[in-house]
Amino acid sequence: MNIKGSSRSAIEIISGHMALKWQRRPNGLYCFNYHRIGHAADSEFDPNVFSCSEERFAQHLKLYKQDFDVVSIDELIALHINRQKIKERLAVITFDDGYIDNYLVAYPMLKSAGISAGFFVSTDYIDKPETPWWDEVGWIVRHAEAKTVKLPHWSQPVNIADGSIRMRVRRLLRAVKQDNSLGMTEKLTQLKQVLQLDSKHMPKPTDLFINWAQLKEMADNGMHIGSHTLSHNILSHLSVEKQLIELAQSKQRLETMLNCNVSSVAYPVGGTDSFTQETQQLVHQAGYQLAFSFMSGVNTDLSVNNRFQLRRFPIEEDASRWQLKQMVNRFFTLWTNEI
Ligand SMILES: [Zn+2]
Repeated sequence: MNIKGSSRSAIEIISGHMALKWQRRPNGLYCFNYHRIGHAADSEFDPNVFSCSEERFAQHLKLYKQDFDVVSIDELIALHINRQKIKERLAVITFDDGYIDNYLVAYPMLKSAGISAGFFVSTDYIDKPETPWWDEVGWIVRHAEAKTVKLPHWSQPVNIADGSIRMRVRRLLRAVKQDNSLGMTEKLTQLKQVLQLDSKHMPKPTDLFINWAQLKEMADNGMHIGSHTLSHNILSHLSVEKQLIELAQSKQRLETMLNCNVSSVAYPVGGTDSFTQETQQLVHQAGYQLAFSFMSGVNTDLSVNNRFQLRRFPIEEDASRWQLKQMVNRFFTLWTNEI
C-alpha cells in the first residue's frame, strides 16, 4: 500500500470510530448554546460571541432534527421535572444575551424548522441599550496600541498583541472576569485610562439587542424566553441581596412585558465560579424551575441536584457538524452507554 493509500485509510478509521461513538451516545439532555449568528469580521466588538454563520446554523438544525428529539424548554419542564433519568436523546437549543441577529436570523429559521429555542436576555440591555462589557473589551483590544495591559492591582500584565483577535480578546476577558476587586464599569474605565482610549470613538450600540416588541413576537410564536439577569454581572461576585434582585426583578420585568410565565434562567458567563450553591438556592427562591450553566456535558436528569446547574455545549468558532459531533463525543467512551 502506498503512503497516500494508508493515510486515507487512517482517516477512514478515525471517522468510522467517530460515527460509531456518535451513534452510541447515551440518553440524556443535550443543550446546545449559541450567542450570535453571523460573521465576527463584520463587528467592531467581541469576536468570540459569534457562534457560527447562518449557513452553519442551518446545517446544525438539520443535525438536531435528524439525530435527537428536539424539545422546547417548556416541554422539558412538563415532561421531566424530578424524573429519575432521561430515557431519550433530547436536544434543547438556547441563545444567550439577546443580540438582534437572534431575532433577524435565528428566529425565522427556527420557526420554519418548527423548533422552539430558548432565548436568555438581560433586561437592562433591552431597557437602556448600551455596549455590554465583553463587547467593550473587544473594542478595547481592537483599538489599543500597547502590546500589554495591566491594571494597577493586577499581578501580571496581559498580552493583547499576539495571536488571533479571538485569542487576544479572550485573554483580556479572562483577566477582567477573574478580578472581582472592582465593579465592571470601574475596570473598563481603568483599562481605557491605562491604554489612553476614549469610548466616545466606540460605535453606538444602536440596534445591537432585541427590543421588547421583537421579543414579544418571538414569545407569542412559540419561542421560550428566559432570564439572563438584569445587568449580566457575574452573580458570584455580588452580595446575596444583589443576586436576588438580579434574579427576581429580571423575571418580573420579563413577565410584565411579555405577559407570560418565565421559568428559566441562564447564569451570566456561566462557568463553575460564576455561581455558587447559594446562587442556586436563590434561583429556586425566585421561582425558577431550571437554570442553565455554561459548562459542557450531557444532563442525565432534572433532579434537584441538577436542574439549577444544567450543562450546555458551547457552539463556537463556526463549528462544522463534524466538530460539533466531536465535541459531544469527548464526553463518553465508546464501550459504555453511561456518561
Ligand atoms: Zn451572556
